[in-house]
Amino acid sequence: MADAKRSNQPSMDNYWMPFTANRQFNAAPRMFAEAKGMYYTTTDGRRVLDGTAGLWCVNAGHGRQAIASAVERQLTTMDYAPSFQMGHPVAFEFAERLAAIAPAGLDRIFFTNSGSESVDTALKMALAYHRARGEGTRTRLIGRERGYHGVGFGGISVGGIVNNRRTFPTHLPGVDHIRDTHDLERNAFSPCEPAHGVERADDLERVVALHGAESIAAVIVEPVAGSTGVLIPPKGYLQRLREICDKHGILLIFDEVITGFGRLGTPFAADYFGVTPDIITTAKGLTNGVIPMGAVFASRQVHDALMDGPENMIELFHGYTYSGHPAAAAAGIATLDIYHDEGLLTRGAEMAAAWRDAIHGLKDLPHIVDIRTIGLVAGIELASREDGPGKRAYEVFVDCFERGLLIRVTGDIIALSPPLILEQSHLDELVSVLSSALQRVA
Ligand code: PMP
Repeated sequence: MADAKRSNQPSMDNYWMPFTANRQFNAAPRMFAEAKGMYYTTTDGRRVLDGTAGLWCVNAGHGRQAIASAVERQLTTMDYAPSFQMGHPVAFEFAERLAAIAPAGLDRIFFTNSGSESVDTALKMALAYHRARGEGTRTRLIGRERGYHGVGFGGISVGGIVNNRRTFPTHLPGVDHIRDTHDLERNAFSPCEPAHGVERADDLERVVALHGAESIAAVIVEPVAGSTGVLIPPKGYLQRLREICDKHGILLIFDEVITGFGRLGTPFAADYFGVTPDIITTAKGLTNGVIPMGAVFASRQVHDALMDGPENMIELFHGYTYSGHPAAAAAGIATLDIYHDEGLLTRGAEMAAAWRDAIHGLKDLPHIVDIRTIGLVAGIELASREDGPGKRAYEVFVDCFERGLLIRVTGDIIALSPPLILEQSHLDELVSVLSSALQRVA
């Protein structure tokens, strides 16, 4: 850290930054060196309010000593144990603790190391489930336009991001996409779940009519699409998807990598919307972002079909060297303790009205074409500038950073998702800085 503090200008010779314009980075490097509570400190000593919980993951805020101590204790007790054919108590305990907060019946927990791995795991589980039940013809996977499901080949195949198609033309075969739920014309400035668009779930019926239900394994959606701009499902949409899946024997997967662990003011989005999927993918808030880890929550039905299936020994031929890693599981248990002690899994519900009112209060600023909020998430959509999409929002991002606020932008949509320990004073600060930045770019 001392070195980082000495120079704000990193050498670009070795570290290849992910999802980053590496060639441009040094023109305006943004470097964090410390983090505590709701704030980062940059390498040049400026405090920056974290409006995005890192990358939607630091739900309990930064620098939680109890998590660090739990990790240290675990690493000095036992650093690593093989994850195949062997176990250790911490992973079992963490799975039990997760099962206790899981939506009804989704209490079979498979550990991974990231959201992308959770997605690939869930898709493989779905294929294996049908095979185990003698329905091996069900291989087709259905995603959604503007879906983001990480960067594995499974995830980019079911995801709906055009750059993944342009840059990596090789995808899983047999994947279809239903439409996303974004509808600016009918739903702009909805205070919460938009009123219009439930019928878009019927796209799934069209896919079934086209291919036959017997060919379809699973549908995967983010209950609230995060990375592509905070798209909130219209009222009744997820219920309708569930009904269509039930009718045709299709598994429903919720990718809750962002929405899991209190983001919407409930433990999971499944709780918020009152819709229970067959499989849930998680990561990020699972360990407060402190140690990389993901977890897939499977229903007993999915789990038991595999356990009772015809494979003679290993029921699910899948796993990672670091599945259930002791340090990550210890971090996860300590994280859950904090979530429970501080009521963070439902705190978003307490703050939601203040959050909604404050963010919607920005609506008369120039160039804003929509504001969407749910729980402690917000999307603010700007009209694109003539010189290209994304330019205006990027300017707001840079201006906010210089004024001491971290936001995320995707195209011309600003996404906000602060740590769930947000207090009114932080909210006031966030809105004040963002409002100044929005006025300046105008
Ligand atoms: N699914 C969703 C819904 C996500 O938002 C993300 C990450 N933003 C992922 C999967 C991928 O997670 P990771 O980056 O940990 O692989």
